[in-house]
Amino acid sequence: MESTADAQPLIVTPNVRIDRILETTLPMFGLDEFFANYDPAVHPVVTLGPDEYDAAAAKIVLSSSSYLVRVPGLVLVVDTGVGNSRDRLRPMFRQMDTDWYEQLTALIDPDDVDVVVSTHLHMDHVGWNTRLDGGQWIPTFPRARYLFNRLEIDALGDDSVTQSLARNGDFVADSITPVFDAGLAEVFDAPLELTAHLRLEPGPGDTAGHVVVRLVDEGRTVALITGDVFHHALQFEDPALTSRFSSLPDEAVATRKRVFAESADSGVPLLAGHIAAHPALYLEREGDRFRVMG
Ligand SMILES: [Zn+2]
Repeated sequence: MESTADAQPLIVTPNVRIDRILETTLPMFGLDEFFANYDPAVHPVVTLGPDEYDAAAAKIVLSSSSYLVRVPGLVLVVDTGVGNSRDRLRPMFRQMDTDWYEQLTALIDPDDVDVVVSTHLHMDHVGWNTRLDGGQWIPTFPRARYLFNRLEIDALGDDSVTQSLARNGDFVADSITPVFDAGLAEVFDAPLELTAHLRLEPGPGDTAGHVVVRLVDEGRTVALITGDVFHHALQFEDPALTSRFSSLPDEAVATRKRVFAESADSGVPLLAGHIAAHPALYLEREGDRFRVMG
């Protein structure tokens, strides 16, 4: 398979380096299928590029991104995609075969990763927590601490997770349970400062325990890794547009507005989970809407 790796790091400052691993970019969902409150009169798709909307398929295009973060004393992986070889129920995720692991190992030895964190425990953010080895799911990062927000672990028995498992297949069994079985899991409460350069902050909405990763250097934020605070370009123009798969829609809108405002007001780039068109997003205001600069 042809590598989809980015040639250059996304962010380089004196103490922070961030590389992206791009697992997939695919037309995935119809507009009504994905958004709970889509209105064609309010959210026209004619302005969207082909890496945002596939007009022939009538589906929004979503990518799946992971981030490798290096700060002094700590190597972190944020979000681990869908993963290969999984018995997922949706055909687009079933038995995927991407070069995610090859992209990773071109950047770093998995033994050198200190911490793994998922912005939230949805199927498409935990997959490469594990890999298949001799028919067993084993941790991809054998020396890492895998951090799980207590709110996400507490929610695993709730209706929203049960529904997610029913839609997707049992990703907990192959992507989360083996990490606990290996003794590599640690439960944390957000906010959590991992180093002076790296903080995990609450960003509730897509799930109750969703976190945003803040990178700080020389006293200022140099990037926010935003997971599923937003999913698609249509939400810049209308932050109230919300995914059907978000557990807490009102909190999702509030978090999205807060994060968009910080980017527009401070110039901080947003590194998103599913935006294909822009590896690093710089937003500006347009009234009470936002748009991507440049
Ligand atoms: Zn996602």
